Amino acid sequence: MDVILLGTGSPLPSPDRAGPSTLVRAAGQNLLFDCGRGVLMRAAAVGLGPVAITQVFLTHLHSDHVTDFNDLVTSRWALSPLPNPLQVIGPVGTQRFVDRTLEMLTDDIGYRIAHHDDLTAPPEVIVTEVGDGLVYESGSVRVLAQPTDHAPVHPTVGYRVEHEGGSVVIAGDTLPCSGLDTLCANADVYVQTVIRESMIKMIPFPRLQDVLDYHSTVEQAGQTAARAGVGTLVLTHPVPPPIPGTEQEWVDEAKGHFSGTILLGTDLLTVSTNT
Ligand SMILES: [Zn+2]
Ligand SMILES: [Zn+2]
Repeated sequence: MDVILLGTGSPLPSPDRAGPSTLVRAAGQNLLFDCGRGVLMRAAAVGLGPVAITQVFLTHLHSDHVTDFNDLVTSRWALSPLPNPLQVIGPVGTQRFVDRTLEMLTDDIGYRIAHHDDLTAPPEVIVTEVGDGLVYESGSVRVLAQPTDHAPVHPTVGYRVEHEGGSVVIAGDTLPCSGLDTLCANADVYVQTVIRESMIKMIPFPRLQDVLDYHSTVEQAGQTAARAGVGTLVLTHPVPPPIPGTEQEWVDEAKGHFSGTILLGTDLLTVSTNT
């Protein structure tokens, strides 16, 4: 499996980091986790067009993780020569979010149907709302979900992709919790959105201080990785965006708790498992 960090940003705009989105490629399948700012631009950078994205997993409905979902829906619909339903798996609330997105797109959908004779139906999006357990199985690829803790955002889920003995966890935004530990158990790769508490505490803006109580810190990501016995910890969605030259400090904060491989994600970083 290849894990490709399409976007490693957060709500804070960064010139180098698109919004949070991760692509897992396994057995010829393209599984997209979250749809942050610029997701289709980054997907294009790895040769993946919107028509080829058939399966989307959402961890939660915070805007930074879904803001370009509407772009994905519209682009793949307008560019697919034949009807091409988009399958979306996400927490409870995903159906309502999709319905509202399609409602928002009503005018555009009408314009395109009026203009193109061979485009006669609106985009089809098939939603499955999930909580835990096996949520996807196709050929040799399985995806399992567990509830995570990002309160007051509720419900939220993390995912574990399994393929021929290899495993990859896409945790999303969450504090350490039992669901996360279950997902991470002996995983080859664990991708965790993180904040750097030591930096946030120095920024005197209450709204930024608020984020401390519902994200994993870098240290906590290291602790989760150690507890679960994962192989490689990948830090993504770093808040605040790392100042160039300080990348090793982020890794070192996690290293105090975890002796495996630690990578601070950058856009398009690819991590591969053996299977
Ligand atoms: Zn986020
Ligand atoms: Zn969030």
